[in-house]
Amino acid sequence: MFREFGGPDKLSYEDVAEPKIDEYEVLIRVRACALNHLDIWARGGTRSERIPLPHISGSDISGEVARVGSLVKNHKPGDKVLIAPGISDGTCKYCATGWDSLCESYKIIGYETQGGYAQYVSVPSQNALPIPDNLTHEEAASVPLVFLTAWHMLTTRAHLTAGETVLVWGAGSGVGSAAIQVAKVLGAKVIATAGNDEKLEKARKLGADWTVNHHSQDVPAEVKRVTNGQKANVVFDHIGQATWERSMRSMAPAGRLVNCGVTSGGKAEIDIRYIFVRQFSLMGSYMGGRGELLKVLTFFEDGRLKPVVDSVWPLADAAKAQTRMEKSEHFGKIVLKI
Ligand SMILES: [Zn+2]
Repeated sequence: MFREFGGPDKLSYEDVAEPKIDEYEVLIRVRACALNHLDIWARGGTRSERIPLPHISGSDISGEVARVGSLVKNHKPGDKVLIAPGISDGTCKYCATGWDSLCESYKIIGYETQGGYAQYVSVPSQNALPIPDNLTHEEAASVPLVFLTAWHMLTTRAHLTAGETVLVWGAGSGVGSAAIQVAKVLGAKVIATAGNDEKLEKARKLGADWTVNHHSQDVPAEVKRVTNGQKANVVFDHIGQATWERSMRSMAPAGRLVNCGVTSGGKAEIDIRYIFVRQFSLMGSYMGGRGELLKVLTFFEDGRLKPVVDSVWPLADAAKAQTRMEKSEHFGKIVLKI
């Protein structure tokens, strides 16, 4: 947990009281919790007004139901579950149409609530979903946030279809490694970027048809070359400022850029002439609906999607694990075992 915002040294390993549950909540005995960039932004104080202090991070949780509230009907103690990371009211027009993350009362577990870097966490009972039988707790924890995000970006937002080409920036990240797999399930061709040869090799193993080193190679030129001049129909971006201009130059006419985050900064220059002449679409994306997560999980049951676990750490080493993420040393999800 952290009591004030700052670097990894602000994380402390402490005993806290077991969370209380209300009548519609379940208490989860956490077995694994995966890291996200959100954890680092929360600790660093980005949008600090949203973060309850003292704060326990952790949005990607798997474990067992330890206790259920008096009105909970869908779970019993002992159920093996993973946690859908978004909480919404379920009553507004956005929730009713599957746009949970536009709900006015939308909250991300472990970001705007206390999360899973702990032995126990309380969550609404509808957020606890059964774990596909073939997944371990560490694998299950590495699925929800990134696969939900990648699915929502490529299907609901960008409408990526079979035969199209998608450029996936940052294949080593959790969301990038998820996007490669989701794009292949959809029948698309994938060009993936990463910062070193080892990560490029792993991206190819996940299904990327072509890979480009975004530090040493000219990404737009490579995209043009491997597509025989056609360029990418969809650009999958979560980096923002550092990749924006190269994304614009990599897009085919009528191309769609879909973005879910800005790990490199949020300011970019847009030449509007590119947008209208080439009829580009620029799309924002934020999390996704619980229905989409249920859909994604079916692909884990039949093995068409696979969790990508980078490394597993004891909870007490959360600061070291976060440092690995901040240095971009990982490929896939960094997981805490609890
Ligand atoms: Zn709502």
